[in-house]
Amino acid sequence: MPLYDYACLDCLSKLIERLGREPTDQERAECVFETRLPMNPTPKEVKEACCCPTCGSLDTERLLNASGIIALVRGVNWEEYRRNPQNKSAMRRDMALHQLQTDDPYKPYREPGEVDDLAHRLRSGTLPVSDRP
Ligand SMILES: [Zn+2]
Repeated sequence: MPLYDYACLDCLSKLIERLGREPTDQERAECVFETRLPMNPTPKEVKEACCCPTCGSLDTERLLNASGIIALVRGVNWEEYRRNPQNKSAMRRDMALHQLQTDDPYKPYREPGEVDDLAHRLRSGTLPVSDRP
């Protein structure tokens, strides 16, 4: 069964609140867990696999590889996040942006300029980031 890395946004948000500052890459790694999923998982299997082992939250994001954690939150508008810690869209947007630029699984299928266009739309907030992969 393939192994996946997931980040728990609830743990991350609690960590940020606890620290009162931007966590280091190492501290962020606390919010990541590994999980196994069959190739064609049932919704129940997905739910079980995506559940955070620390806090039981289902508000988790799949990372394409472990290096994704390094980008987690980096580049997020820190002040914006601190004013509204419940707003996780900035985190999601940032992770999507990082993956697009470094670990894009669709890279071979993209047309020239498509990545730049998507990145621009993600940054400007005109491209909604889906809640689930
Ligand atoms: Zn958690």
